[in-house]
Amino acid sequence: MSNSADASVATRATFEPVIGLEVHVQLLTASKIFCSCSTRFGAAPNTNVCPVCLGMPGALPVLNRKAVEVAVLAAMALNCRINETSIFARKNYFYPDLPKGYQISQYDKPLAEFGYIEVSAGNKSPEKKKIGITRVHLEEDAGKSLHEGFPDAEEKTAIDLNRTGVPLIEIVSEPDISTPDEAHEYLTRLKEIILYTGVSDCNMEEGSLRCDANVSVRPRGQKQLGTKTEIKNVNSFRFIRDALEYEIVRQIDVIESGGAISQETRLYNAHEGKTYSMRSKEQAHDYRYFPEPDLLPLVVDEKWKAEIAKSLPELPEARRARFVKVFGVTEYDAQVLTVSKSLADQFEQAAKAAKNPKRVANLVQGELMGRLKALGLEIEQSPISMKGVAMSADLVESGVISGKMLKDLYDLSFERKKDFSDVYEQEGRPQQSSDTSELEKIIEEIVAANPKQVEQYRAGKKTVLGFFVGQVMKASKGQANPQVVNELIVKRLG
Ligand code: ADP
Ligand code: MG
Ligand code: ZN
Repeated sequence: MSNSADASVATRATFEPVIGLEVHVQLLTASKIFCSCSTRFGAAPNTNVCPVCLGMPGALPVLNRKAVEVAVLAAMALNCRINETSIFARKNYFYPDLPKGYQISQYDKPLAEFGYIEVSAGNKSPEKKKIGITRVHLEEDAGKSLHEGFPDAEEKTAIDLNRTGVPLIEIVSEPDISTPDEAHEYLTRLKEIILYTGVSDCNMEEGSLRCDANVSVRPRGQKQLGTKTEIKNVNSFRFIRDALEYEIVRQIDVIESGGAISQETRLYNAHEGKTYSMRSKEQAHDYRYFPEPDLLPLVVDEKWKAEIAKSLPELPEARRARFVKVFGVTEYDAQVLTVSKSLADQFEQAAKAAKNPKRVANLVQGELMGRLKALGLEIEQSPISMKGVAMSADLVESGVISGKMLKDLYDLSFERKKDFSDVYEQEGRPQQSSDTSELEKIIEEIVAANPKQVEQYRAGKKTVLGFFVGQVMKASKGQANPQVVNELIVKRLG
């Protein structure tokens, strides 16, 4: 099997990948989904357990209302239709980390269906592509097998059941994703939306967000889907993209050399950049799903739904559109400014508090982003906070400092890794040249050199004033106080 970049290029033209993602997100509730045990991460092994989550015979589950509320909130944010009635089901299988011998999940009547996430449809297209979300359902997590970190780990595997019964939602996409890059963007958008709703911290290291990637290939133009493989539990979005890249080429190679893809679960080795067969994939009927007899159907009626909908925040996509419209930032900067809800909140607060919101946006775009990019810093790592940007915008707006001074102070901020307000204080609040005799001389020269503009101004075209201020500022190399200049010119032109 060649599995080379050449093979990839040659076959891309004739084969088309099809990708569908299954994402598990841990919900941020204080207690588990069917018992009152704590969900806290990092507690000593097997300390957050009780007869219910240990699966003791006769112990009965009681549904956590909060888990339902946050699951509904997430489903709403993903544009899903919430089913008024959904049914919990037992998914039966044996595994050491599953003490009951079954997982309580949802099967043919899930909590929510028919959602979508928008991704960009290629580099140049301004259009968006909708990736369908088949379903969002509630389920409990299983425990965790430990293979290291205890004395006889060489011979034994230990079990930590703290995670057993922690609430999850599973978000299943339609097989609408066409490339590994698109899968990456889908996941980025998904995580962003979930973070905005606050229903999960989406911490991949702690397992709060886990993704299984399903992928198949088919001859371009063929309607029928090819046989898929499933790549399990890859722990970063980048690795998922890489694993998909590898797997697509592998599948094409198999087919082109006359073989067939077998439906199976594969593991990705990030070290080698390869996937390996783990086991043949179970079919749904292997799980012997049946309705959970210990739980009532879950009913989310209109009233409850409306109540939950109230806590739905403005979502990233809408917020980006608003930032572009209200603050005049570019599409790209809107993306950057909305990467996290907290940053977007900070920016918005600063922009609104400032005398001129647009100036804040302009400074972020024109002065902050470039400096950050040059140093390879993320905006969260900026020495100048949004508050600092707002402060600097106001100082320029009211003519206390010039644009040139602002640039110098920004440079100092980055040099000293201090916020704008600190540097501004330290520099003894640089004063601008208000030496009027010096300025009057400059103004005299500029007035003499521009008789046409003087005429226009006197004829009532007051906007020409900006031209004169600009000229004087330029002549003074940005050292003049624009307000003083303004007053002097008005006086001079009568
Ligand atoms: P399974 O029962 O094997 O888990 P599902 O029908 O539940 O399969 O689908 C699981 C995921 O796999 C979904 O995200 C779906 O979009 C995706 N999927 C289904 N069939 C294919 C296929 N032929 N190629 C790629 N992805 C697929
Ligand atoms: Mg599935
Ligand atoms: Zn418990």
